[in-house]
This record gives sequence, structure tokens and C-alpha cells, in this order.
Amino acid sequence: MRLILLGPPGAGKGTQSKILETEYGVAQIATGDMLRAEVAAGSPVGMEAKAVMAAGGLVSDDIIIRMLKNRVSQPDCQKGFILDGFPRTIPQAEALDALLHEMDMDLDAVIALEVNEPVLVERISGRFSCKTCNAGYHETFKRPKIDGTCDVCGGHEFIHRADDKAETVHARLEAYNAQTAPILPYYRAQGRFFTVDGMAEMDEVSSQIAAILDRLHALN
Ligand code: AMP
Repeated sequence: MRLILLGPPGAGKGTQSKILETEYGVAQIATGDMLRAEVAAGSPVGMEAKAVMAAGGLVSDDIIIRMLKNRVSQPDCQKGFILDGFPRTIPQAEALDALLHEMDMDLDAVIALEVNEPVLVERISGRFSCKTCNAGYHETFKRPKIDGTCDVCGGHEFIHRADDKAETVHARLEAYNAQTAPILPYYRAQGRFFTVDGMAEMDEVSSQIAAILDRLHALN
């Protein structure tokens, strides 16, 4: 299965791709996570990306496309992958098409999660994650069962993303509207494009995605 989850920051792409990763045994490729790892490692890519990410802008297509090409050729992507946070520009979408063509692969579906802007801001500004295992939480919607202890690994340290601050969130939404939203018509024109109500409860969103994938599976 090869899938793209599209949507603005805070739409639930990360949450839903992690669920799909577990259910379908395919790799989640989150370019934002990959970049944060580069920044933490202080690599040349990380050093170049750090300021752009902190300001809520988009990292250059060259860097991202190179990173993505290396990632999809890893063995864990053989069974398939879910792209989360890529593509974010038309040149990235075109580069992905060329790469898939070269590898003689197709996309099964492009699924866009639709969420309105006030809800995105509320979701992003309350989120935090476990420093050890990266499990995601929210101050209002999803607190750990025991305060201060990660439900998944029992860790006690939590982090807020540097770019989840209110002023950066607005810049990220602007980048989405200006540079990423134009790829929706690009994929709609290619077919196999679906929208899902991302305002629904997390389980309901998962069911809607599963229903799309089941329908596609029945067609194949
Ligand atoms: P995310 O975790 O997907 O919200 O990404 C965090 C940040 O990483 C974004 O705000 C961008 O600065 C950068 N980033 C992640 N993916 C991409 C991409 N495909 N193209 C450009 N920049 C990206």
C-alpha cells in the first residue's frame, strides 16, 4: 500500500499514519520527524533546516526530495509506505511522480484530512509528546492516563515542539495555504483522491480512511 495523507499542520496526519503503520505493516514516512532528527543530530541538513523550521517556513525542495528518495529505497518501505508531510509543494509532488515512475510503482490513494483553522490552532497549541517514545498527547483532548507518565513507555519527560508556538503556527498555516494547498487540485486531477472529515473523533477518522482503503482493495 502506498498512500499520501495530506492536510494542514494539526489535521491529524501523524496520528492517523501511525495507526495505519500498525494496522497495515507499512512504513510511516514523516519528513518533519526526519528533519527534527537531523536538527537534533546537528547534521549539515539539520543546520540548514533549523532556522526555516523555527520560522514556520518550508525547507528547500532539493533537501526534502533528496531525503525522501533515500528513505523510500530502504527495505522497510518495500511493503509500502504512508507519506505524512510530503509532498508540500508542486515540485515535490512532481518529483514524487517521477520517482514512483522510475521505481515502477503507483500510489493507491491520496487522502486529504479537512479541518478548519480555529480547530487546527487549538489542536497544535495544546499538543506535546513523550521525549522517549514520541507518543503524542494533548493538554485538553488526550492527557496521559496518569499525569506525568507516558501511557506507552512509562517515560516521565515530555516535550513541546519548538514550532508549535502560536506565532509560528500562523506562519505554518500561511505556508500551507500558499504552497501546499495547490497540490490538492494536482492530485484531484490524477484520480484516487479522497477527502475525509478530519474534525471527527480520531477513531471515526480512522474508520473513514479504512473504508476508503477497503473500497479500493475491493476494486483491485
Ligand atoms: P511537520 O512535522 O510535518 O509539521 O513539519 C515540521 C516542519 O518541517 C515544517 O513546518 C517545515 O518547516 C519542515 N518540513 C517538513 N516536511 C517538509 C516538506 N515536505 N517540505 C518542506 N518543509 C518540510
